Amino acid sequence: MQNTPKILLVEDDSIIASGLVYALQGEGYEVTHANEVTKAIGYVNEEKFDLALLDLGLPDGNGFNISEKLRENQSETAVIFLTVVDDEGNIVKALEGGAEDYITKPFRLRELLARIKVVLRRRGGDSDIISLGKVNVHTTEGKAYINNNPVELTALEYRLLLTFANNKGRVLSRLQILDNLWDSAGNFVEDNTLTVYIKRLREKLGDNINIETVRGMGYKAQ
Ligand code: CA
Repeated sequence: MQNTPKILLVEDDSIIASGLVYALQGEGYEVTHANEVTKAIGYVNEEKFDLALLDLGLPDGNGFNISEKLRENQSETAVIFLTVVDDEGNIVKALEGGAEDYITKPFRLRELLARIKVVLRRRGGDSDIISLGKVNVHTTEGKAYINNNPVELTALEYRLLLTFANNKGRVLSRLQILDNLWDSAGNFVEDNTLTVYIKRLREKLGDNINIETVRGMGYKAQ
């Protein structure tokens, strides 16, 4: 990742918060700290974050209020919840709702830092993810994910998916798609092979993506 990752830390325990700010800055992250939901949402409205560390129990609400807001505004922000043991019932809900991870307090700092690294690596930075339907295309990694699970794609299937992701909702002619599939080695994709690749991509991605055949025109994905 070229840019300094930006982390939003929401934690009302000032001792935990100051320790975390110090540690995260020490790792080279840019940290914004909020101690309540209202302030955190203010930051979310102003700035883009690569990752949010969210305490669940906050003076004016809970961490879910913030994760929901993040999902509306900036779905590419990864979320890790900071929880206490009693929260674990809620956490299942959080993970199903798209949170990347959670860690139970008291946690070891090194473990949290390691998990942050994994999540950020998986996310590949804020501007490198293109979503199409329920599929996230991580252009830095050259991989696609559904609910944070990687999808096994061949290089060509990936490039086909990327072509659709870059042209979300637009009708692409077969020729336009084929132009995009020329690989760097100059391997040419035949027109009739394209139908096969599209079929395979549809099979692998299922309901998570809608690749529509537009009669006489080409294809449209969203
Ligand atoms: Ca708290």
